[in-house]
Amino acid sequence: MPYTKQIKKVVIVGGGTAGWLAANHLAKHLVNNSDNGVEVTLVESPNIPTIGVGEGTVPMMRQSLMELGISETEFITECDATFKQGIKFVDWLQNPTAGKPRYYHHAFDYPKIDEVNLTPYWLQKNDQQSFADALSIQSRLCDAGLAPKNITTPEYQGLTAYAYHLDAGKFAKILTRNAVEKLGVKHLKAEVNAVYLTGNGEIKSIVTEELGEIEGDFFVDCTGFKAVLIGQALEVDFVDKSDVLFADHAVTIQVPYEDQNSPIASHTISTALESGWIWDIGLTQRRGIGHVYSSKYISHDEAEAQLRAYVGDAAKGIDSRLIPMNIGYREKFWHKNCVALGLAQGFVEPLEATGLLVFDATAKMLAEQFPSNKGVMPAIAEQFNKNVKISWNNVIDFVKLHYCLSKRDDSQFWLDNRDPASIPDSLKEKLERWQYQLPSQYDFANRFEIFNLENYLYVLYGMQFKTDIAMLATRFQDKSKAQQAFQRIKEQTDIALTRLPKNRELINKIYEYGLQKN
Ligand code: FAD
Repeated sequence: MPYTKQIKKVVIVGGGTAGWLAANHLAKHLVNNSDNGVEVTLVESPNIPTIGVGEGTVPMMRQSLMELGISETEFITECDATFKQGIKFVDWLQNPTAGKPRYYHHAFDYPKIDEVNLTPYWLQKNDQQSFADALSIQSRLCDAGLAPKNITTPEYQGLTAYAYHLDAGKFAKILTRNAVEKLGVKHLKAEVNAVYLTGNGEIKSIVTEELGEIEGDFFVDCTGFKAVLIGQALEVDFVDKSDVLFADHAVTIQVPYEDQNSPIASHTISTALESGWIWDIGLTQRRGIGHVYSSKYISHDEAEAQLRAYVGDAAKGIDSRLIPMNIGYREKFWHKNCVALGLAQGFVEPLEATGLLVFDATAKMLAEQFPSNKGVMPAIAEQFNKNVKISWNNVIDFVKLHYCLSKRDDSQFWLDNRDPASIPDSLKEKLERWQYQLPSQYDFANRFEIFNLENYLYVLYGMQFKTDIAMLATRFQDKSKAQQAFQRIKEQTDIALTRLPKNRELINKIYEYGLQKN
């Protein structure tokens, strides 16, 4: 009676951030000391390295760290982490000019749209103030290089919404310790070289070089782009999305600061180039910088030369690393008794730091909905597949939005990105509607959409998207209320600018004193 069998043993294969995030979430929900507890084992190859990138996060990470019982002070000091309050997009809208680079912010603090929806009043204002500066205090704090809180603000709380920049390798280590020492996860070092299936196509066991056969009731594939279980063993197809998002490689470099007091930006800097874009992320000891590009439009050598030109003298004598990227997602994320998480599940270019976000969200979804026995598994799997697919398509639309609103015409890469044939229908429909209708929460009715109204507003109006609301003008009669709200945001920003420390200053204080526990 295999389909009524209780699920007692979960085997996660892969020890990158996806594997360890999954181990933490699953163990937190499933492992206990009673007879009904589920055993969670993580098997990772001692020979195959983790991808070692993935340094930008979004605010949901704070929630996860808190839930997993990890102290923010420990996390910051052990992962060389710094505060991130959003992304500054440079030269995305227009061809770069010799003068000042043009930029806009996608901030983490939601723009103020609840009391009075300020968007239509901003559209009518026409006074050159950017959308982010008018509707949020955070963009000006970022421009000033300030932290989102003070040393006296308790752990995980902030004056503004924030996430982190972190060292991916060190992050995996802290997650490992938490999972093994606090949550009871069994950790094995062994390389999977075969997978045995049962007669009905489920995974029966994995076979390893070092420890022989390891059986399980349920398997989680976190083997990165190799997708050893979901792709190689179960032959679930990969849905390629490189016709929508063209970037297929990254070349990366790690650059030390000039001195230990160099300022640390409190946002990711994303600078568009002729065939891709560069991320620039400041950790405590170094910057992580990467050029994401499409090899259809530029050679690897040219891409590296552009990266080095961006970094300048500081890149001299430092090796770079080339990383191929598969853009797309699995046709199914949960097949039989196997769920894929992390790069094995899917990946799109890291423009909005979506990797860890999607994997963290889907690991939580799996943990919370974990089936007690195999009989209920197919129904849960079907729903899981539907929800995760919604998340991926939403991420793809949102990343594509940055490209298709650009007015750049300095290379074929940018022209092709605006070709309607490369824009998903779901995004095209929204953009058509928003030319005459304000974007609203009703455009984002599904809760598995990772990017919502607030995120779209920053990018749409940061990229100077035109919504013609002339026909709707009679509906926006709260002008004086709106004016007061704009004024309040300005005053709050002016006060915050005088009260918050620089990003590095706060990080240094955390090393010295630690943050207050909640
Ligand atoms: P990996 O780190 O590749 O780990 C795979 C694991 O599987 C390893 O432990 C390996 O040993 C193991 N393994 C493989 N084969 C076997 C086998 N046969 N037997 C046993 N074990 C095996 N995400 C963000 O959130 N923000 C970012 O800014 C960001 N930037 C990125 C930039 C680039 C260029 C890329 C490519 C990704 C980026 N990501 C980012 C995504 C992020 O790096 C990944 O989501 C994250 O690191 C998770 O990777 P993973 O654990 O799935 O895979």
